[in-house]
Amino acid sequence: MERWKVEKGSSERKIIYEEYAQKHKMKTLNIEAIESKLVDTIFNRKIIYEQVVSSTNIIAKEIALKGYPEGTIVIAETQIAGRGRLGRKWESPSGTGIWLSLILRPDIMPVQAPFITLITALSITKALNEVMGLSPGIKWPNDIIYNNLKVCGILTEMDAQTDKVNFVIVGIGINVNNDLEDFQTDIRYKATSLKEVKGKRVSREKLIIGVLKSFEQIYDKALSCGIDERFKRRILDEYIKYSITIGNRVKVIGIKGEKEGRAVDVTGEGELVIITSDGKEEIINSGEVSVRGINGYI
Ligand code: ADP
Repeated sequence: MERWKVEKGSSERKIIYEEYAQKHKMKTLNIEAIESKLVDTIFNRKIIYEQVVSSTNIIAKEIALKGYPEGTIVIAETQIAGRGRLGRKWESPSGTGIWLSLILRPDIMPVQAPFITLITALSITKALNEVMGLSPGIKWPNDIIYNNLKVCGILTEMDAQTDKVNFVIVGIGINVNNDLEDFQTDIRYKATSLKEVKGKRVSREKLIIGVLKSFEQIYDKALSCGIDERFKRRILDEYIKYSITIGNRVKVIGIKGEKEGRAVDVTGEGELVIITSDGKEEIINSGEVSVRGINGYI
């Protein structure tokens, strides 16, 4: 979970390159088809659709600051400054993936917000299962993995005061119809797309609807009970069932260095619990670290 430090006077600006879109003959999403299936959800008629943006999270944050309501969605065909956690680059080849951000205004404490990342990961995993019959895994905290390759990433950011969340932006990037050549070489060895996995093109519209419906179902329940302890445990148990991190040895890379241990649990605040080789339990906060397998990325 990353927290914005700059609230006002941000130089981040929405960038739309219409010429760029035309030149690259971008494929477009059928937004009406998506909207027609979301009328009974919090996402009803709230889609903002652009060809090219800096990053959907940046646009979502800008309009959230202007007061746009919960359930607003920003979708773009490409992002030229898509981001992962810790300011890392997120590649968003045009017209191929799902690059979208949700504005949420949950009535929760800031400390509960990382739980929304877990809910999102779980709901995408379930949607991939239900819509496409796939069984992906979740790499703590925010990546969806198939065959040891990253097919989706989530970036949750929040704007909050000490005891109140103003809004949360959930950024979702899913590689859908990308060919591996669409990616820069350094991430080809760790990324895949649903087209690669299924061997054929996949309907982005169908998947967006599936993901949003799956998300709303869990999010609704989460809010109606104030993310209480029983709900948390149930979601965590489900999350852990899909986790490819829990039960495995991991390397945790932080600002202060690296440590190794066995990942054993996820807490109600979305932290990872590891047992280090000297038997000590350590709680790892997702905002500060990268987690890797002992011998590689996963
Ligand atoms: P990490 O998984 O490395 O801990 P993040 O969750 O922040 O970090 O994801 C960002 C990383 O994901 C980038 O550094 C890059 O290696 C990789 N990446 C960037 N774009 C994509 C993409 N479209 N698909 C899969 N992986 C990507």
